[in-house]
Amino acid sequence: MSTVTDSKFTGTPRKVTPHITQNEALSFEKSSPGKKAYKLPPLDVPEVDPAALLGEAAREDLGTLPELSEIEIIRHFTRLSTWNYAIDLGMYPLGSCTMKYNPRVNEFVSRIEGIAEAHPYQPESLSQGALQVMETLQNCLIEITGMDAITLQPAAGAHGEFTGMLLIRAWHESKGNARKHVIVPDSAHGTNPATAAVCGYEVINLKSNADGGIDVEALAQLVNEDTAALMLTNPSTIGVFENQVHKIADILHARGALLYMDGANMNALVGKTRPGDFGADVMHLNLHKTFSTPHGGGGPGSGPVACKKILEPFLPTPVVARNAECQLYLEFNRPHSVGRVRMFYGNYGMFVRALAYILANGPDGLRQTTEDAVLNANYLRAKLEDLYDLPYKTPSMHEVVFSDKRQTKNGVKTGDLAKRLIDYGFHPYTTSFPLIVPGALMIEPTESESREELDLFIDTMRQIAREADENPELILNAPHSTRISRLDETTAARKPILRWKSPTAE
Ligand SMILES: *Cc1c(COP(=O)(O)O)cnc(C)c1O
Repeated sequence: MSTVTDSKFTGTPRKVTPHITQNEALSFEKSSPGKKAYKLPPLDVPEVDPAALLGEAAREDLGTLPELSEIEIIRHFTRLSTWNYAIDLGMYPLGSCTMKYNPRVNEFVSRIEGIAEAHPYQPESLSQGALQVMETLQNCLIEITGMDAITLQPAAGAHGEFTGMLLIRAWHESKGNARKHVIVPDSAHGTNPATAAVCGYEVINLKSNADGGIDVEALAQLVNEDTAALMLTNPSTIGVFENQVHKIADILHARGALLYMDGANMNALVGKTRPGDFGADVMHLNLHKTFSTPHGGGGPGSGPVACKKILEPFLPTPVVARNAECQLYLEFNRPHSVGRVRMFYGNYGMFVRALAYILANGPDGLRQTTEDAVLNANYLRAKLEDLYDLPYKTPSMHEVVFSDKRQTKNGVKTGDLAKRLIDYGFHPYTTSFPLIVPGALMIEPTESESREELDLFIDTMRQIAREADENPELILNAPHSTRISRLDETTAARKPILRWKSPTAE
């Protein structure tokens, strides 16, 4: 058992109990022959040969399934759930991911019967409420982004990028020339160049300037009649606001190119400034980041795409519209549309949650959220910059990016420091990203964290910096408190074992 201690720290240190005992680790396999979690009444109809009923679909061999009692199953899954880490357990400072709290009011609203049980095949006349949820959310997001039109269909940020770039491509094609390339800064999220390539564009890499921003002169040299768009993340992945963005938009527009904004970092901007006002033509939002819907394994994502009037005709079908009687309906007759990008209308349950979040906060609450997120990141920066190298001194927005430069002299790298955080009861920050910062520690606390939790994190990071100096071995072998310490991360990502297999099956 380890505790965080620091003479300057006045809060209560978080004790970390090793997540499981050796005994539990050994006893994952709980099946034993003959156990059942059900009891059926005796058969009171004639027995039928399954093959007669199901034909070829009938299985002769049911395979080997685990045999357990009901309580053993419940305990197994409940125990597994406690081996995980979640925002509901503590700070989750994974930079660029905006792992904010998912307010319970969102869950409450999404479970209201009429909402939870609505079916996409219900007639429009019986779906007016559901359509109104979509329309209201669309209007809120249009207001927040300063755009003119929107689709809620895309299922994630990367899917939103794909949809947005399809709009750009369709717009260029409508003018007779799809153009050849898309410019992507070297600080971009990896999904940006991937999206441009999937949409059939050559990717031209743009080197960042000394502040980590766009080199406007270099951009002006690059943009020509073959440029379809620039994909810009603002604030950038080093948490810096691109203060030349107006000029960047002008350079592109003067040559008939468009500005795509990756809006995944909108948690730094909501209620303060609007991409539509600073020149973006199309952008995506991550409801599962900025608008507090569950993230990662917690739920499906949602990546709405907002655009300016010129791109509206190309939006995916269907769009939510109102007829002459002011009834809501889904409009499919859109001859210039890029087509459907998602079955039905998108991840509807997430629209409900995001709208609940927006309405619960209101305009002032959303602005406060942004201010708190930026304040929290800058508080961490101010309290840690004497111990961790800060490669870019430009003011931070919602996240701060340090590097492991000072710790590497003892052989300790960003990934090692992150592993040690696990021992102190925190989820690691984002390691080794963005690529323009070698050995990056990318930390995004979000507005969800209290001063107390931030202080505990600061204290822990300071303790880890001391350990890196005095006892690097401790960090190089971390984590010490988990059932598995260091994995082969490439194999874990590429060939994950996600399925239970009977130990007796070959
Ligand atoms: C998270 C993120 C994305 C991708 O969003 P997904 O929902 O994970 O597909 C794209 N760009 C940036 C800057 C991001 O932070």
